[in-house]
Amino acid sequence: MVLADLGRKITSALRSLSNATIINEEVLNAMLKEVCTALLEADVNIKLVKQLRENVKSAIDLEEMASGLNKRKMIQHAVFKELVKLVDPGVKAWTPTKGKQNVIMFVGLQGSGKTTTCSKLAYYYQRKGWKTCLICADTFRAGAFDQLKQNATKARIPFYGSYTEMDPVIIASEGVEKFKNENFEIIIVDTSGRHKQEDSLFEEMLQVANAIQPDNIVYVMDASIGQACEAQAKAFKDKVDVASVIVTKLDGHAKGGGALSAVAATKSPIIFIGTGEHIDDFEPFKTQPFISKLLGMGDIEGLIDKVNELKLDDNEALIEKLKHGQFTLRDMYEQFQNIMKMGPFSQILGMIPGFGTDFMSKGNEQESMARLKKLMTIMDSMNDQGRVAELDSTDGAKVFSKQPGRIQRVARGSGVSTRDVQELLTQYTKFAQMVKKMGGIKGLFKGGDMSKNVSQSQMAKLNQQMAKMMDPRVLHHMGGMAGLQSMMRQFQQGAAGNMKGMMGFNNM
Ligand code: GDP
Ligand code: MG
Repeated sequence: MVLADLGRKITSALRSLSNATIINEEVLNAMLKEVCTALLEADVNIKLVKQLRENVKSAIDLEEMASGLNKRKMIQHAVFKELVKLVDPGVKAWTPTKGKQNVIMFVGLQGSGKTTTCSKLAYYYQRKGWKTCLICADTFRAGAFDQLKQNATKARIPFYGSYTEMDPVIIASEGVEKFKNENFEIIIVDTSGRHKQEDSLFEEMLQVANAIQPDNIVYVMDASIGQACEAQAKAFKDKVDVASVIVTKLDGHAKGGGALSAVAATKSPIIFIGTGEHIDDFEPFKTQPFISKLLGMGDIEGLIDKVNELKLDDNEALIEKLKHGQFTLRDMYEQFQNIMKMGPFSQILGMIPGFGTDFMSKGNEQESMARLKKLMTIMDSMNDQGRVAELDSTDGAKVFSKQPGRIQRVARGSGVSTRDVQELLTQYTKFAQMVKKMGGIKGLFKGGDMSKNVSQSQMAKLNQQMAKMMDPRVLHHMGGMAGLQSMMRQFQQGAAGNMKGMMGFNNM
């Protein structure tokens, strides 16, 4: 996560202030040098970096400032303010109007991520309850319609396109008319790109724009070209009325900082950023929260406190059991408890097999929390003593299937249906199976990095086993095999690993 690296470097520079016994010119300069170096490494334009340094220095008068903590805070605040300025185009972005038919046209070079981003934006609004649809007006690239159709179908978004019509103006017009008649609120039009800024591309773009009269033209730009974004964004802005920008691929490139600041320099508002290939690797872009998260401010201390509260050291016993592939209902209960204590937990919840999509698609923390609570209430009605301790059996589901009367008792006790209890048991079985498979591989839990303890082929085999056990939608949600692998690593490292994941850029 390269942008996260930038954040870490700046944070560490700022922290150097706290470590210094006195704050003088020398300390300030050293800190600023570190910050500027990090920005330059992220391909931020040297002029902008110089400006930032000067602005901070002129905002700080070391002589006049009171000593100690206050000084540090003020300096850190000044740096923060300047970083926000760096990515702030100072223009208010267009937003759609509810109940109206908002036509949004996408433009950009081929491969910049237009089609992917169209789907992400449509999905974003659809989840927020807008009546949303997609139109494919890219007749230039082979397979363009199929790509959009596939994305739209997966996310259940109505779409329009044609395999035979070659004129993008006709398709765009027909699609917009159709969806306007059907009272769609967000009508997104995907267009074709070229490898370069060619006249033919601009010509086509203008024709489509004239025909459909979009309310907003979104320019999609790949962050990997860094500060060169400025020239490209300007070129597009000169030709069509670009109202907003979406910067994509901020997940994988060293030049992310450069891209964002370069776009800001063209005074085009960035409305969203793309942080991965998946449909919800997408976030609204707001300057201040973006910088806060980049620097890990605000929440980082709270998170660390929470991890400490979890008393992970007490988890020794659980780790010991996992080693032997054992997992009881009580273990699951305790895991849920930990998750709930951690607060924003949808990321972690998504890592638990079988939970992912169901919980996430609702996109609502509170709802997820309520569901988890319900499951815990059910487990509260299970017994933990007597001849057969339901909560402590290493095959909890069997205890119930052998004597179905137990299901009825628990359902009555917790005020839910027997089906709810059964569902919980299914969930538990899935989780326990996974633990069994993991425990079955020698050396998996030796501690340290799991990838060091198992060979590549063992790892691949393990992942395959897990993939088979999992609902494909969930697997997809976790980012396929790669996501699965990282989940396994985090699972092994316990909740501390999860917290690390949460602080990653992707989950900002
Ligand atoms: P288009 O030609 O502009 O329509 O671009 P596509 O939407 O077809 O995307 C080109 C490639 O970039 C595809 O492989 C996408 O999966 C990938 N892509 C798009 N957005 C992102 C992003 O935010 N992060 C990453 N890592 N890949 C992306
Ligand atoms: Mg495309």
